[in-house]
Amino acid sequence: MKDDNCIFCKIANGAIPAATLYEDDDFRVILDLGPASRGHALILPKEHFADVTQLSSEVAAKVLPLAAKIGKAQMKGLGATAFNVVMNTGKDAGQTVFHFHTHIIPRYADGPSIAAWKPGTTTPEEMAETAGLISGAIDDQA
Ligand code: 5GP
Ligand code: ZN
Repeated sequence: MKDDNCIFCKIANGAIPAATLYEDDDFRVILDLGPASRGHALILPKEHFADVTQLSSEVAAKVLPLAAKIGKAQMKGLGATAFNVVMNTGKDAGQTVFHFHTHIIPRYADGPSIAAWKPGTTTPEEMAETAGLISGAIDDQA
């Protein structure tokens, strides 16, 4: 399914050009226009899904192997020493384009530094309560 108003549908399906580093029947992988580091890539499915919660299991099963392939190529091709795999899901998590995409962000020994969360604190009681709230809300998908 393609969404006529979706920029990533247009890019993934070739209607708008982008710096493409990989393409197959299901995905186009492009460079991000506002890279967090050199080589910052986006894996775009050609089919439209708003976010990871909407992804088909067929496409989902292919995303992580492709992320690993791209990350390894960033290390080999660019001299990156590591990479982050990121999926922002929802506005409050920083998602700005509502066509599912996976960021593959190369990391280099000399930076740039990229903001991560600051570890907080908790207690065993709070952890037990929080875990219960989440586990009780997991849908039975069997
Ligand atoms: P999000 O914030 O939704 O997780 O990530 C969206 C990403 O898409 C951002 O990193 C942004 O720089 C990138 N982006 C937005 N529009 C375009 C575009 O038209 N072309 C490319 N190559 N990247 C885009
Ligand atoms: Zn789309």
